[in-house]
Amino acid sequence: MTITSFNPATDAVLAELPSHDEAAIEKKLDDAASAQRQWARTPLAERMALLKRVAQALREQKAEMAPLATLEMGKPLAESLGEVEKCAWNFDVYADAAPRFLADQVVASSASDSRIVFDPLGVVLAVMPWNYPFWQVMRAAAPVLAGGNGMVLKHASNVPQCALALEAVFERAGAPKGMFTTLLVGSGEVARLIDDRRIHAVTFTGSTPAGRSIASQAGRALKKQVLELGGSDPFIVLADADVEAAAAVAVKARFQNTGQSCIAAKRFIVEHAAADRFVEAFVAGARKLVVGDPMTDGTTQGAMAKRNLRDELHAQVQASVQQGAKLLMGGKPVAGPGAFYEPTVLDHVAPTMTAASEETFGPAAAILRVADADEAVRVANGTPFGLGAALWTSDLDRARQLTRQIDAGAVFVNGMVASDPRLPFGGTKESGYGRELGALGLHEFTNIKTVWTGPART
Ligand code: NAP
Repeated sequence: MTITSFNPATDAVLAELPSHDEAAIEKKLDDAASAQRQWARTPLAERMALLKRVAQALREQKAEMAPLATLEMGKPLAESLGEVEKCAWNFDVYADAAPRFLADQVVASSASDSRIVFDPLGVVLAVMPWNYPFWQVMRAAAPVLAGGNGMVLKHASNVPQCALALEAVFERAGAPKGMFTTLLVGSGEVARLIDDRRIHAVTFTGSTPAGRSIASQAGRALKKQVLELGGSDPFIVLADADVEAAAAVAVKARFQNTGQSCIAAKRFIVEHAAADRFVEAFVAGARKLVVGDPMTDGTTQGAMAKRNLRDELHAQVQASVQQGAKLLMGGKPVAGPGAFYEPTVLDHVAPTMTAASEETFGPAAAILRVADADEAVRVANGTPFGLGAALWTSDLDRARQLTRQIDAGAVFVNGMVASDPRLPFGGTKESGYGRELGALGLHEFTNIKTVWTGPART
């Protein structure tokens, strides 16, 4: 069996890579188990030094790694370079902060000494998506590894070269063989990997349907899981906001990574009084996007990662127009080779229309006009998702109240939702559960152990 590395911008096959067979999978799982045992016993200072070396290896390899992401999933090269840099930053942040996050927490009780200690769980299976082929993996990996765990990666099948490049980074950094290992296998192998006794927990980032399936398998196997799933993030603009600034950020929030981000703003919920101004500025910004070869300097929107995803997005746009949305720009695939789609803006979208009720994973924005802040929050909460949300207003007191009413794992006020290694990241409702990043992300994959000690008895 082979896994095909394919360029969605040119339709060219880049490589056919042999997938791992039964014997190779066995060997890799054995290596992962023994490397993790060694890693868990490694003094914390040495573990943190390795994390630093991973950051360094990422920076050294940036020029070789970034084009792989662009070639395999179509994002502009500048974004791929930024992605590798962010992975390195994440490892630096954890190398500095993990000793603090992992320190014993002394708690007063009836004991002479009672404390919470954080032990590793074991080897964590990471099933990951292609949209940020380096960041999604390394966002999960830094806290998992810092906590003394190992990681087995099953990456999305369309980014096999990125998956192997990540394994090579750990080799270059001098990690124990198998501490981070890549399995080139299809999604059909995931269930048996979850069941395998050498796997102790699962972290999944990807679509909600796949998350449902993985959650039920991990549940049956009674293995801890963190799920980072889909989203349809609201971007609320109230009438008292700096509308021009909001619109400029909104363009980036919707169209970066060719719109293929779980935390991309997908529904722009704008108070009537500000709507015309917002729409004008937003469309003007979107018209400046440069769609084209993602390897070329100056391109700001590359190809979508797969043709079938472009077709799905197009069907969602068409359905929304038939349902009454007003198409302001774009609205169709770009003719010629590659999975390119025109930057698309739909206005007068109602909450029940496809573009608002489903996740749109590509460069298409839905604008919903609302009467006031209460309606904005109701509409924002009116999907099964709850990943991120942005809220724009000049009244920060009101913002603080509204943020508590929004169903989301993160609310960014007067800014764009983004992941930051220092802050927890994750969703609520059907966007998943558990957290990555920050101290909480590290604690997810630890055995939070209570140690109770009575008086010494002689
Ligand atoms: P996907 O189709 O769910 O695939 C993600 C990973 O799961 C891939 O490795 C895939 O392997 C595997 N997979 C798919 N179906 C599976 C199944 N039934 N059982 C076991 N494994 C399975 O998602 P995607 O298209 O790559 O990514 C886009 C989705 O991810 C969007 O919904 C997006 O919102 C979400 N996402 C969420 C976050 C977050 O942090 N919340 C971040 C990024 C993306 P194959 O490639 O081999 O099929």
